[in-house]
Amino acid sequence: MHPRYHAPFAQLSDTLQHALLPILERPDFVGMLLADDVTTLCTQCDLTPETLAYALLPLAAACAIAPISHFQVGAVAQGESGNLYFGANMEFTAVPLQQTLHAEQSAIAHAWLRQERGLTSITVNYTPCGHCRQFMNELNRANTLHIHLPGREPAQLHHYLPDAFGPQDLNITTLLMDPVNHGRTLLDADLLAQTALDAANRSHAPYSNALSGVALETERGTVYTGRYAENAAFNPSLPPLQVALNLMNLAGEDIHSVRRAALVEPRNTTISQWVMLQIILAEAGCTDVQQHFID
Ligand SMILES: [Zn+2]
Repeated sequence: MHPRYHAPFAQLSDTLQHALLPILERPDFVGMLLADDVTTLCTQCDLTPETLAYALLPLAAACAIAPISHFQVGAVAQGESGNLYFGANMEFTAVPLQQTLHAEQSAIAHAWLRQERGLTSITVNYTPCGHCRQFMNELNRANTLHIHLPGREPAQLHHYLPDAFGPQDLNITTLLMDPVNHGRTLLDADLLAQTALDAANRSHAPYSNALSGVALETERGTVYTGRYAENAAFNPSLPPLQVALNLMNLAGEDIHSVRRAALVEPRNTTISQWVMLQIILAEAGCTDVQQHFID
């Protein structure tokens, strides 16, 4: 198991430790539990998916990278498939705090990149901040999404975000996590750029139309993708680089092991991911970065 799980794992009940150990020790464990695993764990440990998600929160929080706040937040998103996805906050030094990824965003982006089509609930160890409430309001299942917090009754997102402003106020009908393919193409691009293009084609950018996607190749040769997740309130928007680094971190790879990166975005656009992406990747030790343009 990844060393970051050792301490929180030791705090779990003996029954849950016994049932969870084979899953955490799988070489391909990427910070998510498949629906079949959830069912098995719930049966073996007399839990529900909700109580299991609570029990897993310390493991999710152990994935946090918080060099600024030293405050670890964990989240577990439950997909309509029944899968559970870890999420944890991620902070970046040398750039403005706006580049931070919150735990709820992390769990949502994780589920989205693992091809989940919608979320039923998000369990988190602290009450969601206003930024995350707004981010969750962009989801295709925002009207039915339940928030689970320790010591509180489950409540719908709109209990925590009354009188919300969201995509519907801007006549946006394709929402975050709705499956899309924007159908853009790239000529003369290598496999890494084509992978970033695929991510851009699945990105959510209805306000700027600046579709963008990232592909990161690690020293092990694994490729992680990130899709841009735009928000009606702009500021909670999640850059594609953070989405890719999040996937990489939750899968257990060191974010300082990116060897090569590709960004795909429109040539003529009002916004660009390029400058901030280069700064964050350089800080993480990667300067082999390509930029490719779509129309
Ligand atoms: Zn937050």
